[in-house]
Amino acid sequence: MSERPDGRKFDEMRDIEAKVGVIKEADGSAMFRIGKTIAIAGVYGPRKVYPRHLEDPEKAVLKCYYDMYSFSVPERKRPGPDRRSIELSMVIKNALLPSIFLKEYPKSQIDVFVSIIQADAGTRCAAISAASMALADAGIAMKDVVSSVAVGHVNNDVVIDLNKEEEDIEGTSDIPMAYMPRMKKITLLQLDGKMPKEKLKEAIELGIKSCEKVYEIQKKALKEKYTK
Ligand code: ADP
Repeated sequence: MSERPDGRKFDEMRDIEAKVGVIKEADGSAMFRIGKTIAIAGVYGPRKVYPRHLEDPEKAVLKCYYDMYSFSVPERKRPGPDRRSIELSMVIKNALLPSIFLKEYPKSQIDVFVSIIQADAGTRCAAISAASMALADAGIAMKDVVSSVAVGHVNNDVVIDLNKEEEDIEGTSDIPMAYMPRMKKITLLQLDGKMPKEKLKEAIELGIKSCEKVYEIQKKALKEKYTK
């Protein structure tokens, strides 16, 4: 096993910090930091659907907006939505959907805004972990929390939670995962790059184990707010 650039063990995630209730005007909110990647999520709703014709008489409409700020990366990023952010908004929504009892809220909409204020790889996963905590903080009826982290294949080794430096190594592949720990269900599994078939099982197992660790941190942050 080769040494990781920042000296972490293969199954060691970056330092994680999680907090709920960070946006006073939102119905629910959360901050999730993993290493230098920071996601802030705000949930608004359930509220009336605008425009009205988009409302569903059977269930709530979930809307997700992912935005990476200009100053979040070393070289200023062009502000505003682009193809990547539109795709990631959809990916985040699909990862969260199985966890929410949408039928509890017919004719309404739930908006989830996630801002990446600092990016060092793994932003979609940090966004999902933050958004799920914010949904719970908003009191939305949920089956489970969604916990997310990326597993990868760097220099022929399966490793957890790549930072940007590792992501940029030639031949690296990256598997963002999201998981509902109590339901034991994967809600997001992507693969960016190539990965030897025999390593895939090992990678997914490490991903699940790490999502379970993320879940403990999310749970602790949610409990902290309500015991204070
Ligand atoms: P993720 O953030 O989920 O890993 P990507 O693989 O698309 O998603 O991006 C990897 C990393 O590349 C980001 O976390 C960020 O550090 C960097 N990055 C992405 N888009 C840009 C951009 N437009 N400008 C500068 N850096 C970017």
